[in-house]
Amino acid sequence: MTGDITHAEVAARLRSERQMVIMAHENPDGDALGCVVALALMAQNLGIPHCIYLPGRAPLPAEYTFLPGLDRALRGPMPKMEATTTAYVLDCATANRLDVEGLRCAGACINIDHHHDNTRFGTLNLLDFEAASATQILFDIFMSGNLPIDARIATALYVGLTTDTGRFQYSNTTPAAHRMAARLQEMGADVAAVAHEIYESMALSKVLLIRRALERMQLHLDGGLAVSWLTAEDFAEAGADESQTEGVIDSLRMIKGVRVAALLRERLNGARGEYKGSLRSTDGSIDVSAVAHQRGGGGHLQAAGFTAAGPLEDLLEWLVREVGTRL
Ligand code: 5GP
Ligand code: MN
Repeated sequence: MTGDITHAEVAARLRSERQMVIMAHENPDGDALGCVVALALMAQNLGIPHCIYLPGRAPLPAEYTFLPGLDRALRGPMPKMEATTTAYVLDCATANRLDVEGLRCAGACINIDHHHDNTRFGTLNLLDFEAASATQILFDIFMSGNLPIDARIATALYVGLTTDTGRFQYSNTTPAAHRMAARLQEMGADVAAVAHEIYESMALSKVLLIRRALERMQLHLDGGLAVSWLTAEDFAEAGADESQTEGVIDSLRMIKGVRVAALLRERLNGARGEYKGSLRSTDGSIDVSAVAHQRGGGGHLQAAGFTAAGPLEDLLEWLVREVGTRL
């Protein structure tokens, strides 16, 4: 059975949960991690036994590890769940990259997300496509149920909001997003400290990765498409791991005239010769999630991704062709 659930209903459920597993998608970003930490802290404050589960084994992006509790996150295979356990899946558009059989063991699976292509895989779904971040949906849940947001929870919610809005710069930066930021600041979120942790503490290895991506960059389609790629050797030379690629694509996207930016990076923990593609549309005139869908991926209109087998040359050629027909 699947159905919709309201913010107030989720808040009411939270007060009576017996056990929770709190999870997000593979390669979690600031929103996914902000979500799991905020909900885990809320569970802790409510005295509910819980754990955080993050699929995959790659290290978590270092810029978010200041958030409390991530060091205790379970990795690898999904933990076994019982009928008394509720799985909370956050900021995750499809269950494809989660262990679907494992999820079925839970008493209920609550899918809380803001991606427009969410497959409604939960037994209960709370989808808000207007929400700037999934942490905004959590914020609305907590507010609707008068669940107290302490300074640590406010900080985690703010991390999701600031990263998914590109520091309050993307078109999803609504008045509601600014109002939420103001409320979180009043509740104790230290915005300068968050900015310092996320944006001003970059590992040298990540800077070297960005340098390599810029060196490699190609402009196609009269400068409308910027593409670059990173191989396993590039990661080794930079001393970087996969988690350090978040944000690399921003350096390609910011160039004047670029309407689509694309980065292909070899998966280090996947099959050899498999690439993770990231796509960004600068002005929204092209739905990059439609491009990602062609390779089994998805995402938002202006930010999407996929995983595909190489060779790299074929993927690059396909990208230029696919984007070219849409520009
Ligand atoms: P990124 O390029 O930062 O990895 O991802 C950008 C957006 O696309 C995120 O919203 C992310 O959830 C989505 N995305 C990335 N990779 C995939 C994928 O393989 N499948 C789907 N469905 N969405 C993806
Ligand atoms: Mn998100």
